[in-house]
Amino acid sequence: MQIAENLKQVDENIAAAAARTGRDPADVTLVVVTKTRTPDEIRTAVEAGVSVFGENRIQEAAEKIPELADLPVSWHMVGHLQRNKVKKALELFEVIQSLDSLRLAAEVDKRASAPVPCLLEVNTSGEKSKFGVTPAEVGAIVNELGQYSNVELRGLMTVGPLTPDEDRIRRAFAELAGLFDEVKANAGPGFRELSMGMTDDYGIAIEEGATIIRVGRAVFGERPY
Ligand SMILES: *Cc1c(COP(=O)(O)O)cnc(C)c1O
Repeated sequence: MQIAENLKQVDENIAAAAARTGRDPADVTLVVVTKTRTPDEIRTAVEAGVSVFGENRIQEAAEKIPELADLPVSWHMVGHLQRNKVKKALELFEVIQSLDSLRLAAEVDKRASAPVPCLLEVNTSGEKSKFGVTPAEVGAIVNELGQYSNVELRGLMTVGPLTPDEDRIRRAFAELAGLFDEVKANAGPGFRELSMGMTDDYGIAIEEGATIIRVGRAVFGERPY
């Protein structure tokens, strides 16, 4: 019940944020992030209309996703992926949103048997704890990714700065959108996604052009840790 109500609120907020900038809310995909959530909670979210989910750890995903294999949903990897877990990741996920190095891309290319939709993760906050390539590297890396036929670059992803300062958050998202426009011409026709915005900042992200938002707590409530 609560999950369905929360989702309704998130949908309303998406519509309001889109309206503020004249965007179509249908151009924003909600990825519901399920870390720490049980298969039952995830099933409730599916009944309430969710069809795309994200997980950030391979081990947790490997415990949950096979149990939910009967559901008509897709799964996105949104957390740091180690190269030795790429094979497992390719079994579990349809999209890797957290491609954060050329070495990881080379491993995905080698292990995959067909093109894998990926987003290049960019560290727009400068926070050392965050993964992602630097903004300065994006152009060169996008060009390099062209050599990997099994890496299908669909766009860019970022985790915004952890701060209550909305201007800083907005600048990070605007920077990602700017990088997207800069490299688009070199990236191929499927390059169209900007994944940014989580529970505390998805409204700002939509205003700055997000086509994918990744939301956990606003749907399921606070996490136990
Ligand atoms: C956990 C997580 C989210 C969702 O965070 P909430 O604050 O629960 O909305 C989004 N993106 C990534 C990469 C995450 O790890």
